[in-house]
Amino acid sequence: MSQVPETIFSKIIRREIPADIVYEDELAIAFRDISPQAPIHILVIPKKVIPRLSESAADDQALLGHLLKVVQQIAAQEKLDKGFRVVINNGEDGGQTVDHLHLHLLGGRSLGWPPG
Ligand code: 5GP
Repeated sequence: MSQVPETIFSKIIRREIPADIVYEDELAIAFRDISPQAPIHILVIPKKVIPRLSESAADDQALLGHLLKVVQQIAAQEKLDKGFRVVINNGEDGGQTVDHLHLHLLGGRSLGWPPG
């Protein structure tokens, strides 16, 4: 099986570089984005390295569902009662810059639509 290249997010998972971690379980970890685009901007990532959603496997289905339930839990933790947005950037046109699947949880202000 070919090795999936690691990113800076693997270093965050292993605590090799600091991050403001707000949630962790055996499958996922969540931390505040270093360059927040909203008052609350948290990245939820699987511990398993999946480079992007389009490269997820059939047996990642439960893990992908888990990530959404983690988002729900963190949104409640962060008291985003007025709403929030979940974004997955995929690939070049999607604006993805880190090749480790991540869900952006954005909230704490009214968000415009459509995104740029
Ligand atoms: P993408 O553009 O790939 O969808 O999102 C990557 C996100 O990771 C960006 O919002 C960027 O600010 C964030 N990011 C990149 N490097 C780091 C880091 O070292 N620490 C944290 N906390 N966030 C990072």
